[in-house]
Amino acid sequence: MALYDLHAHSSNSDGILSPENLLSRAKDKGVDVLALTDHDTVAGLAQARIAAEAYGLQLINGIEFSSFWHKIGVHIVGLNIDPEHPVLLEAVADQLRIRTQRAEKIAQRLSKQGVKGALDGARAIAGDAVIGRPHFAQYMIETGVVSSFNQAFKKYLGAGKAGDIKNMWPDMTTVIGWIKAAGGVAVLAHPNKYKLTRTKICALASDFAEAGGEALEVVSGRQDAGVAETLARIAEEQGLYASCGSDFHVPDQPWQELGSFGTMPAACRPVWQLWSA
Ligand code: AMP
Ligand code: MN
Ligand code: MN
Ligand code: MN
Repeated sequence: MALYDLHAHSSNSDGILSPENLLSRAKDKGVDVLALTDHDTVAGLAQARIAAEAYGLQLINGIEFSSFWHKIGVHIVGLNIDPEHPVLLEAVADQLRIRTQRAEKIAQRLSKQGVKGALDGARAIAGDAVIGRPHFAQYMIETGVVSSFNQAFKKYLGAGKAGDIKNMWPDMTTVIGWIKAAGGVAVLAHPNKYKLTRTKICALASDFAEAGGEALEVVSGRQDAGVAETLARIAEEQGLYASCGSDFHVPDQPWQELGSFGTMPAACRPVWQLWSA
């Protein structure tokens, strides 16, 4: 059976590999079908498509949008989107504006905490990529403020910390609308990563389905035992298809490695049935 990895990042957002190197690594890891899903951008897709052809992989045009659901930041992956659709292009431009403003706010907040020069620092690290909190984390590592990404998020950037800016992203329903307008399938990304109770995940999945979302990411990287089964049950209850992906960012994190994750529970309807039927 073909190996599908439907969630991965390149250096166009907070991943480290260029689209070409990402496809090359995916090939090495035995992936047959890869979705490039950079945060709020489709800038890497053209380069990824050329590489996919060269390495003999199937590329799915994807994106991972940031959104809010009841003040909780949730990520919505769009699969098989038309990257040139006017609605999508406008959405990406909106998100980029938000990211730019958000970066300024993060830097102001960090400055008040004694972390100086973060805006210029994070911008320099991001280069042409869409700027995000990981670039601030990298800056803080490079300047010795923290010793790891984990520490940067725990002390400065994670939920409830100074660099966690509220109310900037559009509502989840809006984002699902963008994806559908661009011909794509909306997938609720890594539902287990939002620190929600099972009841809350069910409520989120229900609202997501109601708004036109079609799949739940039942498998996201290496998960604890039982997580996939729980999410598979929620997907079934809500009439959602199931997706799987590594959420790959960098090569030295075995828990988010390309093609390396558990199999989908047998009861799941794989999301690719939607486009390969
Ligand atoms: P942003 O897109 O700016 O909201 O940043 C979110 C990204 O930060 C996620 O996609 C992850 O790649 C990364 N991230 C989130 N939490 C952590 C954490 N605790 N440690 C390391 N990276 C994280
Ligand atoms: Mn990321
Ligand atoms: Mn995410
Ligand atoms: Mn991701």
